[in-house]
Amino acid sequence: MTYLCSACGETHEDWPALVFAQPDPYRWLGDAEKTSFQAECDRNTCRIAYPQQTECFIRTVLVLPVQGHDVTLEYGAWLSVSEQNYHDYREHFNDNDHCAAYVGYLANALPDYLQTYDVIAKAHTQGGGLRPLLELKPDPDHPLVRDFYHGISFAEAQRRVDKILGARR
Ligand SMILES: [Zn+2]
Repeated sequence: MTYLCSACGETHEDWPALVFAQPDPYRWLGDAEKTSFQAECDRNTCRIAYPQQTECFIRTVLVLPVQGHDVTLEYGAWLSVSEQNYHDYREHFNDNDHCAAYVGYLANALPDYLQTYDVIAKAHTQGGGLRPLLELKPDPDHPLVRDFYHGISFAEAQRRVDKILGARR
């Protein structure tokens, strides 16, 4: 799949989204823990009932702009949300006109960044069966937040995609 980039006039290949199938706290659990914590994870939501507290997650879309091109690099990343927001999201998942925003922390370690669990973001529901779009809380000191607002270079985006595709082959 290729497309004509209106910003630079060249033809580019479509990039796949860089997807995390589950939030990291779920991946860390062994089978016995998954059972005792009643951990559930489907394609869009995840819930873990730890003995002390329950943690909930929703899968979202994080879009990084690419400097000088009308292409973006997409991550399928998870956000920790309150249990109330988790239920609200599930209840209205198929609604077209449910407009909500859920605030939480990123729940995946994004490669190429030292630390991403501390990034605060707001997930804006899109309706129509689309996953919510992330808006990162401004933080000039965080490399991922900087990239979200200022974009990454085309070469860097291509390198990240190639690395993921290479690992899948
Ligand atoms: Zn271009």
